[in-house]
Amino acid sequence: MKDSVGRVHSIQSMGTLDGPGVRFVVFMQGCHLRCKCCHNPDTWDVCGGTEYLPAELVAKACRYREYFGAEGGITVSGGEPLLQAGFVHDLFRLCHRENIHTCLDTSGSILNDTVRHLLAETDRVLLDIKYTEDGLYHDHVGCSLSAPLEFLAYLDEQKIPTTLRQVIIPGINDGKENVLKLKEIAEKHSCVAQIELLPFRKICQTKYDAMGLPFPFGHIPEPKRDVIEALQNVIPDYV
Ligand code: SF4
Repeated sequence: MKDSVGRVHSIQSMGTLDGPGVRFVVFMQGCHLRCKCCHNPDTWDVCGGTEYLPAELVAKACRYREYFGAEGGITVSGGEPLLQAGFVHDLFRLCHRENIHTCLDTSGSILNDTVRHLLAETDRVLLDIKYTEDGLYHDHVGCSLSAPLEFLAYLDEQKIPTTLRQVIIPGINDGKENVLKLKEIAEKHSCVAQIELLPFRKICQTKYDAMGLPFPFGHIPEPKRDVIEALQNVIPDYV
């Protein structure tokens, strides 16, 4: 069988923000969505990045194994890793042969047989529920809320431990009502044990400038820390 080849944007050897414990994080190149809050517009181009074989990445990840401890492992993020689901499947399968825990960070916007195959090798999913209203999804993401919800229903069916993630953007989704809706979604799916509310950040402005693109949410301020804390207090069982 021919080895699959993946296009990788970048690698973070010891990440602590994308999944449990210390993780080797692979950011895949390419995304079909255009979130107006996107921090990584430089990952969008599906033709960019550097080519890797799954075994090359696993060999690199193994160098950090001693730091993974009981909880850590590999996380594949993006861009949107589901665009290269066949490659990520092969990567995760090799990780499992090495007893490395696998975590997938995704928008959950694609669900087909290749993705289901990948999920069979996935130990945990970090699923972005970017908004809890379909209108906001259409306006600010470029797909429907029903896509990640369908994805979440499948994760629940397969009993894959899942963390829901949402970037909190002032004036758009920083209300208590939104977080209560997110909690409602979590409560309907027993695979969800945790919700992460992430503050909207604008450090990516320089990436947009370098690419000659407008940052659609460049005019929106970053949220204050106490706003995020107050929202977290609405969902104590999931934080
Ligand atoms: S899914 Fe992620 S990488 Fe793609 S546009 Fe949205 S935030 Fe950016």
